Amino acid sequence: MQEWQKLLSRSVVKVEDLPFIPESEEYRERLRKVAEVFPIRINSYFLDQIKSADDPLWKQVVPTEAELEDFFDEEDLLISDPLNEEGDMPVPELVHRYPDRVLLMLNNQCPIICRFCTRKRKIGFPGIVTRETLRQGIEYIREHTEVRDVIMSGGDPLLVPDNELDRILGELHAIPHLEIIRIGTRVPGTLPQRITKELCDILKKYPPLFFNIHFNHPSEITPEVEKGLGMLAEAGIPMGSQTVLLKDVNDDSAIMKELFHKLLKNRVKPYYLFQADMTLGSNHFRTMVQKGLDIIRDLQGHTSGMGIPAFVVDTPGGGGKVRLLPDSVVEFNEKEVLLRNYDGKVYRYPQPTSETSEKETSSKDNVCQMTA
Ligand SMILES: *Cc1c(COP(=O)(O)O)cnc(C)c1O
Repeated sequence: MQEWQKLLSRSVVKVEDLPFIPESEEYRERLRKVAEVFPIRINSYFLDQIKSADDPLWKQVVPTEAELEDFFDEEDLLISDPLNEEGDMPVPELVHRYPDRVLLMLNNQCPIICRFCTRKRKIGFPGIVTRETLRQGIEYIREHTEVRDVIMSGGDPLLVPDNELDRILGELHAIPHLEIIRIGTRVPGTLPQRITKELCDILKKYPPLFFNIHFNHPSEITPEVEKGLGMLAEAGIPMGSQTVLLKDVNDDSAIMKELFHKLLKNRVKPYYLFQADMTLGSNHFRTMVQKGLDIIRDLQGHTSGMGIPAFVVDTPGGGGKVRLLPDSVVEFNEKEVLLRNYDGKVYRYPQPTSETSEKETSSKDNVCQMTA
């Protein structure tokens, strides 16, 4: 067994082993009800990083009574699919929602179980994605030449053993029309020991392979995590981050700025900041949508543009991701555009006067491009 496998096998999965929870047996009994339906997992590396019950790391992985407030029973959870992913699966475990890219689910296991997970209906349960299911998914990609980008997800693809991962990456990489492969993972920030030289040697063989790494708080970036990110960068993996906006965890401009700066220093480009999804039992994590816009406005102009992710709402019901921007267009017409800059002053940009450009700029769509 490798070190990361040992750390994973020593995970906290039972209520009585949770750190910093009240002694009350009645309270624990309530948590057991939650955990029966939505499992607990805190691997022993991540557990070591948790310092107290106020800890932003604690809040992400330890169930609380608040989970019961918008939570009914197992039945509800099983059908809970806020983004209607099941509705866009032409074959099992493959989501084809956008024209040219697909999401391929490899497993149901994660290094930690996030209480706000959008795939609660699957994660942590014993059911596995079978070889046959995976074969069908890869076959679908092979047959659909419009698919030029695949995002491996789950679960967490990096919990798949090296030889299996090597095989899957090899099959995908051999598909001529597939231009890029992405891995969506929370492993680098929550089980950094998984980033081994052997893993990097495998990843190196399949360029262009991108990582989208889930990070929510600056305290996740420990020396061990920095070492793993360094190894991935040295292996030539371009890295982006995905962050979920969570109440009382990271809904604060200063915390976000610290996170994004730390990511940049470790060669990770902040990619998406997500409004929390409408997952059952996670209402207490949701913020007002305005909060995300305020954070983006506080950052824009005040720090490297490279360090600012796109703020996105993944629309309930399967409409996909929609980017939101703080208001920067004061006035927009065929003659001019009035724009508010980062410190609140308004500037005028006169439009060109030729006929063709008037036609091009008169559509409302361009407002979005102007503000992007
Ligand atoms: C997020 C997502 C993608 C990838 O979106 P990008 O904006 O290209 O990063 C693809 N498919 C599904 C279903 C998604 O939710």
